[in-house]
Amino acid sequence: MFNNSNIYPEAEYNKRLEELKRLLTYMKSDFNFDVGLVVTPYDNDEFDKDLAPYKDEREGGRRCMICYRKRMGEAYDYAEENGFDYFTTVMTVSRQKNSLILNSIGKELEAKHSKTKYFYSDFKKDDGIEKGKALRDKYGLYQQLCCGCKYTYEEGERRKLEKGL
Ligand code: SF4
Repeated sequence: MFNNSNIYPEAEYNKRLEELKRLLTYMKSDFNFDVGLVVTPYDNDEFDKDLAPYKDEREGGRRCMICYRKRMGEAYDYAEENGFDYFTTVMTVSRQKNSLILNSIGKELEAKHSKTKYFYSDFKKDDGIEKGKALRDKYGLYQQLCCGCKYTYEEGERRKLEKGL
């Protein structure tokens, strides 16, 4: 599921979504791995109402806890309603995200659902970051330069300038 109303601006959201679609076509053509994609409606204005009170917090603080819980909770509900055996999150691959926190949110959500189990993940393990970079290089995938919300937007723009992009 692509459930990312946290991303700002909409052009960045569209860019990431199109890149995901492109990657999934490679997964099918090169690995015969057919991955379905569910995309929830984009509404950053609404999503941001919960984040704005914590706009000045550092990444990984309360704003992010709200952001993780909201997106994972909505995706978990979808998994339960649609008969999925397991739910997990790819966010654990991020160097900036604490897998212990994400997995503890996953276990909290599991306790609120009766059918879908939480699948513990730490995609940074076993050279997960390096494997991700190898895929990015192989397929020429877009690399995001900030987490995504409007409070990390300037950081992304600064990194673009540093990289001459
Ligand atoms: S920094 Fe990332 S995880 Fe934190 S609120 Fe922004 S988009 Fe969400």
